[in-house]
This record gives sequence, C-alpha cells and structure tokens, in this order.
Amino acid sequence: MSRVFNFNAGPAALPLPVLEQVREDLPEWHGCGMSVLEMSHRAEPFLSIARQAGIDLRKLLGVPDGYHVLFMQGGATAQFAAVPMNLLGEHRSADYVVTGTWSQKAAEECGKYGQARIAARPADGRFTRVPPHAEWKLDPDAAYLHYTPNETIAGVEFHWVPEGINVPLVADFSSSFLSHPVDVKRFGLIYAGAQKNAGAAGITIVVVRKELLDRKPLTQLPKVLDYREMAARDSMMNTPPTFAWYVSGLVFRWLLDQGGLEGIAAVNARKSGQLYDYIDSEAFYVNPVDKTARSRMNVVFTLADAARDADFLAGAKRAGLVGLKGHRSVGGMRASLYNAVPEEAVKTLVEYMREFARTHG
Ligand code: PMP
Repeated sequence: MSRVFNFNAGPAALPLPVLEQVREDLPEWHGCGMSVLEMSHRAEPFLSIARQAGIDLRKLLGVPDGYHVLFMQGGATAQFAAVPMNLLGEHRSADYVVTGTWSQKAAEECGKYGQARIAARPADGRFTRVPPHAEWKLDPDAAYLHYTPNETIAGVEFHWVPEGINVPLVADFSSSFLSHPVDVKRFGLIYAGAQKNAGAAGITIVVVRKELLDRKPLTQLPKVLDYREMAARDSMMNTPPTFAWYVSGLVFRWLLDQGGLEGIAAVNARKSGQLYDYIDSEAFYVNPVDKTARSRMNVVFTLADAARDADFLAGAKRAGLVGLKGHRSVGGMRASLYNAVPEEAVKTLVEYMREFARTHG
C-alpha cells in the first residue's frame, strides 16, 4: 500500500483507522449478512449506527440539551438557502460578515429570500483579514448574524467567537468543524459539510437551538430543508445518505480516541504552527494573511516566482505530497491540514519546501 500525503481541501484525507474499519465492515457489517451500503435506513442495524453517531457527536462537541443535531443533504450550499428560509421568520433581513468567497456566497443566497445586510467586509476588498468587531455595523432587528469561522479558499480564520451579539449567531463551520473545542451555547446554529473534517461527501451536519424552530418558515421551504421536519423525524424524513452517516460516526469515534477536540486542537496548532513558522522564515514563500487571522486548517502561500508553480507541484507529487494547488480564484498553493492529516505530512512538506527553495531560490 502506498498512501500519499493528501492536502486536498475537501473531500479530503480521512484517518487511516477509519478507512481500515470501513474495509473490515465490507461486505458484511457485524454479522448481519450485508454491508452498511445495502441496509434499510428504517431497520435496526442502521438505526443503531445513526443513533450512536448522534450520541458521539453530542459528546465530542458538547452539544447541550436545548439543541437538535440534524444530519442533512445538499452540502453547505443547501444550508446557504436553508438558513434564511427557516430562520428569517418575521424579520426582513439578516446580517452577514463577509471574509471570503464562502461567506459572500452565503449572503448572495440569502438575498433570494430576504435582505442580506453586509455587516462587515474588509475595506480593501482583499480577503486577508477579519474586520475587527468594533467595525461591524450590526442591525439589532436582524434575524441572525451569519459568519464563516474558517474561509477555506482565502485561508482566513476567526480565532474568536463574536461576543455581545444580540441576535442568534449562525456559523458555517464547514472547514473547521471539530478541529478545536467550540462553546455551542454561543451559537443559534452551526452547519458543516462532512467532507473536510467529519467524514465523506454527502452528509451535512446542522446543530440548531430548538427555540429557533418556533419561527415561521417561508411557505416555499422545501420539506427536505425544513429543520422542523428533520428534527421531528430524527433526520430520516426521507432516505438519508446512510453510508456517509456511518463514516461520520467512525470519524467521531476516532476523534474521541484522539482526546476529543482538545486533543486534536493541540495537534492542529502544532501542524499549522510548523508550516507558518517555516513560511515566515523563508523569503521564497509568502502567506498574505494577517497573522491574527491565519487559518489552522487551510494554509495558503505563494512562491516568490509564480513561474515556478508547476515545477513545485510536480516535484511535490513525486515526493508523495498531493492536493497542494491553490484554488483557481487565488492561485498559488494551499495546504489543507485537516484533522486526519498527520504531523508527519507537514514535516515532509516543510522538508520538501526547504529543498525546493534552496534549489530554485
Ligand atoms: N462553506 C465553506 C466554508 C466551504 O469550504 C465549502 C466547500 N469548500 C462550502 C461552504 C460549500 O460546501 P458544499 O460543497 O458542501 O456545498
């Protein structure tokens, strides 16, 4: 077996023990004569898998009783619509803090169903920092305040949770979900596609404060995006993505075995710290993000000479380092260091970068 070091932004690396468990559970799960892929979502074997995943996620994230945990479909992009359709209620508008491509897209989607007020956006139009809270222009009557704790493309991350917000806080945690402890009580709603830090593509996790579901949804709200329907039917209003749900459950177990979110946060801090320290020490590489807002999950960097990009990527591939090409909208490189990316991968990447700078600088 020769597995590469996978720096993909999502779908992304999964923990090896999870993959091995998946293999062991095929073609038969726990003596029930069939695999998870073939089970009815209404029969007990799958119901037990689904239940356990929910229990483990609640434990991992410390989800209080007053919150529903929903397993949905459609990715974070479906949530860009589901959030306003479910939560605008009697309010005319919602506030959005825009710090990158994804929060921008979330605001645009909200604009189809109501008004998306831009509460803050970097004044220079570049996504390299988080505008300080003091600069935000908040509407006290907003339905909620939406922000994106980690911008996957720009590599910009909040290292703080907005405080003193008098409306429910909604966060798209897609690319930093389960990467560090979070105080769920401070949020009205959290959502995340699983394909970066929490499993395979196809399932989206929503954690929502129960009382927010008293709001009247838009009449056009599709049933599959209705949080009330999903909550009432334990996320089995229709056929859920059963295999992806099962894989997420294995990831939650693996995370509990890593010492939970505190344990994994310490590893993540070491990984990103090592890479940023190296980038800062070497003029050949540049990270454009303000030091207070650097992402621990997606480290973006450019080479001093962009004409070397193709060489850099080809050499990296030969060294077993893949998925480093930056997003097409920003260019350069991006190393996604999600939970399942081992420290060894970062060490190998830094060694490769050092050697490349020495021979091409
Ligand atoms: N939000 C963020 C922060 C993301 O990184 C992504 C995917 N890269 C999305 C939303 C869109 O997610 P999906 O493809 O699951 O709809």
